[in-house]
Amino acid sequence: MNKHYHNRTKMVHGGTRRSQYGEVSEALFMTQGYIYETAENAETRFLESRDDDFIYSRYGNPTVAMFEDRMALLEGAEDCFATASGMAAVNGALVSCLKAGDHVVASRALFGSCLYILEEILPRFGVEVTFVNGLDLAAWECAFKSNTKVCFFESISNPNLELVDIPKVVEIAHSHGALVIVDNVFTTPVFSKAFEFGVDVVVYSATKHIDGQGRALGGVILGKKEFIRKKVEPYMKHTGGAMSPFNAWVMLKGLETIELRVKAQAKSALKISQILEKSPHIKKVIYPGLPSSKQHNLANEIISGYGTVITFEFVKGKAAAFKFLNKLEIVIISNNLGDAKSIATHPATTTHQRLTEKQKDDLQISEGLIRLSVGLEDTDDLINDVSSALRTL
Ligand SMILES: *Cc1c(COP(=O)(O)O)cnc(C)c1O
Repeated sequence: MNKHYHNRTKMVHGGTRRSQYGEVSEALFMTQGYIYETAENAETRFLESRDDDFIYSRYGNPTVAMFEDRMALLEGAEDCFATASGMAAVNGALVSCLKAGDHVVASRALFGSCLYILEEILPRFGVEVTFVNGLDLAAWECAFKSNTKVCFFESISNPNLELVDIPKVVEIAHSHGALVIVDNVFTTPVFSKAFEFGVDVVVYSATKHIDGQGRALGGVILGKKEFIRKKVEPYMKHTGGAMSPFNAWVMLKGLETIELRVKAQAKSALKISQILEKSPHIKKVIYPGLPSSKQHNLANEIISGYGTVITFEFVKGKAAAFKFLNKLEIVIISNNLGDAKSIATHPATTTHQRLTEKQKDDLQISEGLIRLSVGLEDTDDLINDVSSALRTL
């Protein structure tokens, strides 16, 4: 695939492997294994399998390989490994390059399951983790030690949409010899410039914008060929976190439309955030695209679009938030994001319910907070839905 084509072209054609039948739409190779012409052929394939020599679908599969190559083109990565879910990607990226005695520095504002890996699992295997406020550059600088091997953060945090200053944190991490692994879900691969700023490894939950239609779980780990093939692949292929060919096929189809979808969703999100800002019932609206946002200038520097999620806080707390949610007609109450369907979530009682009061305070997850993932419905219909629900308060 010509590197100079634009993303929309790459997302329709990139990575395609056609079978002898010359199918137009990518084939779904729903197979566990592959046959060998001769016993000698099997022996050589096991001895040294080259690109596209498949031997078992936990190791690799043609449909999964098409998805991996297309993802690498979108993110501008040398290589990609697809995983069963976003969490398999986060776990694979971290565990494949850490060992007992190593130290990790991570931002505190993390997706619950990422926090669980760093707080509960890694320490059991002798990996020490220090958490910092991701916005505080001095805190990042202080946290690194001689044995720090990895620096991990979400480029835009959930649910408060805080942007980490990627170029500055990369500079600090690299000056201490640490690898930078970024969970880039809220930025989306459409708006990401992570590799331009020297990030070493990017992970996505493909369950979000990459599928974009709420159908399947998946994840990807993107980075240098050396890292993906020497560290990630051996770990993933022997521990079983491979993506199913069926899910890879769903994701491939998702990539065909990802740029159109995410840009349309972000456009609606900006308009809705402006409506929300005017409501007397709302204390604060967080969306990096709002000129009033404290992080608007940083956003303009480090991402090429503002994302599809808005977070806002009701003056009258949980009662108002619940009343608002129950009055919505188009927007559904659920907890996915990046979906074609607009989805509203009350983090304090759902996704972040298990946090202690102190943790919720630290992460500013108040009872009045709502996270809205803006979908593909007509923008005016969404604005009317949100405005009508606000009027009932
Ligand atoms: C959803 C999500 C994950 C986990 O992805 P799954 O596909 O659900 O395993 C990890 N990080 C972030 C930021 C997410 O939003």
